[in-house]
Amino acid sequence: MNYFDAHTHTFSKEENVLSVVNKFPVSENFSHPFSIGIHPWFIKVKTLNTEFTVLEEKIQHKNCLAIGECGLDKLTEVNFQTQKEVFVTQIQLSEKYKKPLIIHCVKAYQEIIEFKKTLKPKQVWVLHGFNKSLQLAESCLKNGIILSFGKAIINRNKVAEVFKKLPLNAILLETDNNDVTIFDVYKKASEIKNIEVTELQKQVEQNFKNIFI
Ligand SMILES: [Zn+2]
Repeated sequence: MNYFDAHTHTFSKEENVLSVVNKFPVSENFSHPFSIGIHPWFIKVKTLNTEFTVLEEKIQHKNCLAIGECGLDKLTEVNFQTQKEVFVTQIQLSEKYKKPLIIHCVKAYQEIIEFKKTLKPKQVWVLHGFNKSLQLAESCLKNGIILSFGKAIINRNKVAEVFKKLPLNAILLETDNNDVTIFDVYKKASEIKNIEVTELQKQVEQNFKNIFI
């Protein structure tokens, strides 16, 4: 493998790509490496118990590399307190089964950092799709949260500038909804860092393996 995609919703058929494909409790195919979680957008109180039962069973599947995406989103209509409770339960599962956590966060960075500080989890937390300021990035890193970058480093100069300033051992790369390829993301990331793609590959592979394998 040369390319590591920390968060995507589509399995890659490319032989040199290892991706963590996001699954939900209702998903059916678990034949490739995956993460599984209850996304804040899709929390339904009525079916939560059943979903947690499925989740806990699938976490023990040999292809499960992480819990998530899960997290907090202030732009969704789901009650924020409920989101917090569902997130905390997934943090506990991450600790119980010793799997890293992949986090979805919209306008709730302080809350995520607060949970990290108070719960002091042993497992790695990966904040996916990071596209915010350098100050926020540094605050996450200071609290031991790994940042995963995708299309925003291609489409947004400000995010590319943030990425440029971060240490390579604290980042991962991803495609998420696949409007970019993992090859595009690596190419752009190596340009921003002004290093060869092969050098970037080595570092990201090491990060990925430290966290997921
Ligand atoms: Zn996603």
